[in-house]
Amino acid sequence: MSRRTFLLGAGGLVLVGCGGSSGDDGDGAVVRILTVAPTVPPGATSPGATATALPAPELVLSTEEVYQAGAVLVSVTGGVAGGTATWLDKQYPLIQGSQSMFTFTGTGTDVAPGVHQLKVEVTQKNGSKGTLSADITVLATEWTVDSLTFTPEQTAALLDPKTVASELAVLDGYYATRTKEKLWSGGWIVPTEGALTARFGEMRSINGSAPSGHHGGTDIGAIVGTPVVATNSGKVVMARQLQLRGNMVIVDHGGGVLSGYAHMSAFAAGEGQEVKQGDLIGYVGNTGLSTAAHLHWEMAVGGILVDALRFTDGTNGF
Ligand SMILES: [Zn+2]
Repeated sequence: MSRRTFLLGAGGLVLVGCGGSSGDDGDGAVVRILTVAPTVPPGATSPGATATALPAPELVLSTEEVYQAGAVLVSVTGGVAGGTATWLDKQYPLIQGSQSMFTFTGTGTDVAPGVHQLKVEVTQKNGSKGTLSADITVLATEWTVDSLTFTPEQTAALLDPKTVASELAVLDGYYATRTKEKLWSGGWIVPTEGALTARFGEMRSINGSAPSGHHGGTDIGAIVGTPVVATNSGKVVMARQLQLRGNMVIVDHGGGVLSGYAHMSAFAAGEGQEVKQGDLIGYVGNTGLSTAAHLHWEMAVGGILVDALRFTDGTNGF
């Protein structure tokens, strides 16, 4: 396991505005730059032999403190040709951004709070390899609890574990997509106008049962027909009717980040369509397992469902 070593001079933490950052483009949020000396694996060229030819890779993190169900934008600058980030035993290939190579990493709802190590194995353009690492602190999120009542017919027909599992399998298939292209740019926006009616991660007590599970999206209540737009640019990879989530659109933003929009009354975008941030993709509805008209908005990073609002409220640091 490599150890983080700060280079003196540029060492320690340097706070910079995003406009002057050498990390991948953000939305103007402040990012922290960690300058890390790569470790050299056995048999590789010594760092002294390559340092004169290429700038040392730098690890740029959107934040060093991520909440459960948060995401971190991990960028590597310098003469880097490729690499893979490892976070919480999951691997994330770096993809080419506008100013660096980058990936987003996802932190699940059940990750233990505390310090965890992010490791990034990089290959420089001259072929030499190294490992960058940084400690990231996972902060606990307090989950809210909601009590819901369903009719026996709804419960019997729609909460059948097989129905739940088969729909999750469909979604997992899409959310596992790792498009090696950056389709998103800049910041992320809330996709419809309305009141927040259920937070991501909320635990549910159904018909009086003990609270369990974590709500996999953010619910925004609005009247049927309210426009739903893409949270960022990307490509529509799914637009179909599901039993629980009703009419649902999934947009691939590249690099393993996808957004989902459920319970819609109608579609305004089709599979394969490229969309820009703010483009209309559908309308708020009450389709599928839904007790009132609302948008259920999901965000997935590397196949992990994370809190969509953390993409817009600054707590992810981007
Ligand atoms: Zn929901």
